[in-house]
Amino acid sequence: MIDPHVLKFLKTLKILFIDIETAPNFYASFRPGKQHITIEQLHPDFLEPQIICAAWKWLGRPTVYTETWETKWQKDHRGHHKVIHDSTRIVQQLDKMVEQADIIIGQNAKSFDFKWLNTVRMLKDLPPLPNWLTITQRDTLEMMKKHLYLPSNKLDYISRLLGLGGKLPTRWEHWISITLDRDDAQERMKEMLTYNKKDVKDNEAQFLKILPYCEMTVNANLWTGFEGCRQCGSTNVARNGIRHMGEASYQQLQCRDCHGYAGRVRILKDGKTSTRVMK
Ligand SMILES: [Zn+2]
Repeated sequence: MIDPHVLKFLKTLKILFIDIETAPNFYASFRPGKQHITIEQLHPDFLEPQIICAAWKWLGRPTVYTETWETKWQKDHRGHHKVIHDSTRIVQQLDKMVEQADIIIGQNAKSFDFKWLNTVRMLKDLPPLPNWLTITQRDTLEMMKKHLYLPSNKLDYISRLLGLGGKLPTRWEHWISITLDRDDAQERMKEMLTYNKKDVKDNEAQFLKILPYCEMTVNANLWTGFEGCRQCGSTNVARNGIRHMGEASYQQLQCRDCHGYAGRVRILKDGKTSTRVMK
């Protein structure tokens, strides 16, 4: 369980959890089953990658926000109606949040969500994100793969393990109805948003569960302005042994508030210690 002092510190940061649902590809095929689909088989009306909806929430706050794509019907050159989707407002809404966030978190977000959002930015000529934002992006899947060993790293499994009931079930008909804007599209969209919101909430619970056993994502001292515990910002730290590493010696620190490893300070040549708390 996460220590209350660490949680209190985390709540002072702006930690944003995000999750997106993307539109499927449509393609022509003579039969189902295992096969190789080529670009030629793709339906020309659905070539542009689109995000159907996104959900996000701030750590420690109850509200989960959502945004959906815009859907309209347009006549083509032959007077036939066809459905058009536009994910622009999802990315615009999310980017407003992303720009305020100290840390942005998602499950498998580095390989999926962050890249998808960036792809829509590129396709829609939206402003690119500044480079520093990539430094603040975190991926819970990556954290788990690096530091833990569980039967599965999927959010569905973690959600079950934490007693949150797993991911909500979705069927292909959700994606098909919403993308083709069929009669039940609005109803299906509501269900997809519920699914989307649950994933974000579960991701927050997952993050708080795994965080103490993974690398701390930030140095708390950057926010407090003090040189104290890197995990929770407390200056109530105790010396806890000296460690020689490589060419230098370090005084290790233990936090009296969150009881975790608080960092280490370098022992200088004159025997004094540096004021900078390092990892
Ligand atoms: Zn601490």
